[in-house]
Amino acid sequence: NWERDWLENRARLSPNKDAIIDEKTNKAWTFEQLNKRTNSTSSWLHARGVKKGDRVALLSPNHISYFDLLIACGKIGAIFVPLNWRLSFHEINEILADCTPILIGIHQQFKAIHQQLNNVNTFFIGDASYEELVTFPIGDLPQEEIFETDPLAMIYTGGTTGKPKGVVLSHQSILWNAINTIVSWSLTENDVTVNYMPMFHTGGLNALSIPILMIGGTVVIGEPFIGEKAVEALNRYRCTTILLVPTMYHMLIQTDEFQNSDFPFMKIFLSGAAPCPMQIYEAFQKKGLAFKEGYGLTEAGPNNFYISPEDAQLKRGSVGKPMLFNSIKLVKADGCETEPNEVGELLIKGKHAFSFYWNREKATQETWKNGWIHTGDLAKRDEQGFYYIVGRKKDMIITGGENVYPLEVEHWLAAHPAIDEVAVLGMPDEKWGEVVAAFIALKQTYTIQDEELKMYCELKLGRYKIPKQFIRLAELPKTHVGKIDKKRLKEMRKRENK
Ligand code: ATP
Repeated sequence: NWERDWLENRARLSPNKDAIIDEKTNKAWTFEQLNKRTNSTSSWLHARGVKKGDRVALLSPNHISYFDLLIACGKIGAIFVPLNWRLSFHEINEILADCTPILIGIHQQFKAIHQQLNNVNTFFIGDASYEELVTFPIGDLPQEEIFETDPLAMIYTGGTTGKPKGVVLSHQSILWNAINTIVSWSLTENDVTVNYMPMFHTGGLNALSIPILMIGGTVVIGEPFIGEKAVEALNRYRCTTILLVPTMYHMLIQTDEFQNSDFPFMKIFLSGAAPCPMQIYEAFQKKGLAFKEGYGLTEAGPNNFYISPEDAQLKRGSVGKPMLFNSIKLVKADGCETEPNEVGELLIKGKHAFSFYWNREKATQETWKNGWIHTGDLAKRDEQGFYYIVGRKKDMIITGGENVYPLEVEHWLAAHPAIDEVAVLGMPDEKWGEVVAAFIALKQTYTIQDEELKMYCELKLGRYKIPKQFIRLAELPKTHVGKIDKKRLKEMRKRENK
């Protein structure tokens, strides 16, 4: 399996190169040290009776233990399950009941809650006892063969559309996402990233961190994201590339530090996980900085597309073309592939694809059909082959028989000078089936009437796309990974209408 060979060889190729740096303590670990730590950790897990196929969970803020445990599990065939620590005990217990780990590592920050977790053997992270684990005498590992298609990790989805689902990723899926990303994005051992994305999510673990480590670059584990501080950290660590969700970019571009910095080491800023408002593109363009949007999902990689910084400017809003090692197609409701500029569901296959949802046979069958992952996302491709994400199939609004893609309306409203955040949803309506509603948060000191907003919409949008309702909030609710939480907005509206 690749985890043993890769890190052994990496440690020989560049033993003294920093693999991981912790921003909080400024402590660094070289590839040689990382190799030793993961060998010790796998020996420790083996000594504790962890076997191939057993789940080892982790409840921790971003920390080197994510890498220790992922790689150590890989070396002995166990399945690493990072948990979303922002969930309630109740939700965490539900996930534990679903994945039934044999062991769970709990960061000392969460020590107080470990009694409330059901029936799990725990060990602690971030204190002296964890040091014993990563320096444990390296012994023989089990001889049982590990296949590339065996599970390596299980990452729970963001829960944007329902309860989180355990996405089982094989050794080959994580390897091929990394190969695809390294080759398509031309990553090298000189690349450095500061990781501010939660590492229990595919964005913080697979999207950039694993590919950069694999090629011999450096991953800085960032402190909790604060725009002003992030600018300083990117410059201090000579960061070359970064991935943030649009909500974080939204905070970053408003800081004086962002406006005053030239980011001399930065090759590309990447946005992912959710649609990116145009003002963010513009803020980077104004400063002459390369910026692009990626599209991903836990079930496929997450990375799937590539766009050069030049094309990202010319083809504003496009996620680019498929990466080298995956297949992508767009199909209509009748199962036929779309013509250019026609909207269809995005289907993906490739070695980076997930195996199945844990304990969710029906959901697996609904997603894996005829050998393709049905993403539930709608997209279109232009004549030159550039793809544009149009939105989630479930979010599409049908009003009086007409299809409205919320993203189109959101992009236009977000460009209005008074609007800080926007989310567009369909609301049930007796006459129209559904009507378009816009939840908006205004920028401080701005006020604006509904009529003015409607007139603004008329400049660009067909009548049926213009929101019939504008609902004002101080701030829009976000999911645990920083996406605008439409599920909560819908529930809020339903409660109000009762
Ligand atoms: P759940 O599956 O539990 O509802 P989730 O869909 O948010 O949660 P993730 O794997 O975190 O799970 O996110 C993947 C989804 O995020 C994609 O299917 C897509 O809808 C959305 N997404 C990702 N990148 C983009 C992007 N650049 N533009 C628009 N949407 C995006």
